[in-house]
Amino acid sequence: MSREWSLRCSSQFRLWDDLADRPYDRVHHAERVLVRHAGTDTPFLALLVALSLPIAGLLLAFDDGPWRVAAYGGLALALATIYAVTRGDGARAGRNRLVLLKYPAFVLLPLAHPGAPRALVLAAVAYAAVSLYDRLTAEPKVSSPARAKSVAPHAGMFERVACYACGSGDTRPLVTAEEDLTGKPGRFTFVTCANCGLAYQSPRLKIEHIGAYYDDEYIAHRKKSDFGPLTPLYEWTMDKHDRDKAAIVRRFVSLGPQSEVMDVGCAAGTFLAKMRNLTGARTTGVDFKDLSAAPWMKDVDFRLGLFYEQAFGAKRFDLITMWHFLEHDYDPPRTLATARELLGAEGRLVIEVPRFDSVTWKLYRERWPGLQAPQHTVLFDRDALQSMVHAAGLEIVEYLPYGAFPAYFYVFAGAAFKILKGRGLDLDRAILPYFLGQLLLLPVLAFERRLNLAMQTVVCRRAVVRPL
Ligand SMILES: [Zn+2]
Repeated sequence: MSREWSLRCSSQFRLWDDLADRPYDRVHHAERVLVRHAGTDTPFLALLVALSLPIAGLLLAFDDGPWRVAAYGGLALALATIYAVTRGDGARAGRNRLVLLKYPAFVLLPLAHPGAPRALVLAAVAYAAVSLYDRLTAEPKVSSPARAKSVAPHAGMFERVACYACGSGDTRPLVTAEEDLTGKPGRFTFVTCANCGLAYQSPRLKIEHIGAYYDDEYIAHRKKSDFGPLTPLYEWTMDKHDRDKAAIVRRFVSLGPQSEVMDVGCAAGTFLAKMRNLTGARTTGVDFKDLSAAPWMKDVDFRLGLFYEQAFGAKRFDLITMWHFLEHDYDPPRTLATARELLGAEGRLVIEVPRFDSVTWKLYRERWPGLQAPQHTVLFDRDALQSMVHAAGLEIVEYLPYGAFPAYFYVFAGAAFKILKGRGLDLDRAILPYFLGQLLLLPVLAFERRLNLAMQTVVCRRAVVRPL
């Protein structure tokens, strides 16, 4: 019976919430029922009273104990006070955070032992879920800087692309995407090759215009690392990413101080620093953005520019890695052919890209984080990745249906992008819900490698005979 009255409580408080929000909703959510209903609040107030009576009756009749009656009364009083003192847009954000506490209260009130650890976890889950929704949908204090300073790219900045794999120009439309991560304006089109089925972006931004999209808000290039009390967790997560890369690599190559390691698309170079610390290997990094000023980059042979335009002379590499690089590339077959030439006889090439034929793509479609428009040029499903690698004269040592990049990021970001609809994800605001969500999904994420959530990795070597 107590479950039933908890439901009534929640509907009552929910209604109360919406009543208090009417002035705000008239401006921001004109479609809502309470807004459309012009006139006085009297019918709703009457409904509130009508709901309160059976709840009070149930409380008394079923002898739920004096503490429960007091808790319910206290909650109602607290909410009434909060609504009374917070009128107007300014106070709304602060009030919202406070009134979200009613949701864990709904969970705890009807339980027989609300102080038990299990009950408290349940209440925490309820609070995490509603605050995630609230934080993501909150109006930005100021419009995001990336959004404010940029305008949508015009048609002259784009170029049509023939299929990277087969050269055909025949395409079928696939999906139109927005820049969901930072919320910059623009619509970007992905197509499917009518001949071989490769999915890619066309038209794409000409290469001289793409640099602006790899600014400081781009996660891999992000210099900001101060997230208040969550900073240690953030740093641990970033380091774990490099440790996971190292763990994949170590299964396929053994490296020492004489080894040569190259990371293509090395960004801030933390993976190279990690490999150097672990193995003593000599390191080379290539990126078209210069982030080589970091102290750990001083021992890295850093090359600024496009990978296939670099001159390495007779140098050959024991390991070349491309962590989320190939899907950004303007000429992936040429990149793969260049990597093949630079691999030593026993060298290994490790390529991680988002997996197009994955659960998160099916779930999020035009909001799939793997589209990452306009930076992602090609969307690789398993077959497309393997056949492009083969065509470049490489042999697959092993295919992994996962990567070092946490698939959970795609699960989270896709859900956030769906809610935000192109408004841009504020990382400062999202970081707490991100970690809370990860905690809640731990039981699922334990099976990440079997679920085909979002990532794939191929480990290759030079094919013995290069196909014609
Ligand atoms: Zn094709």
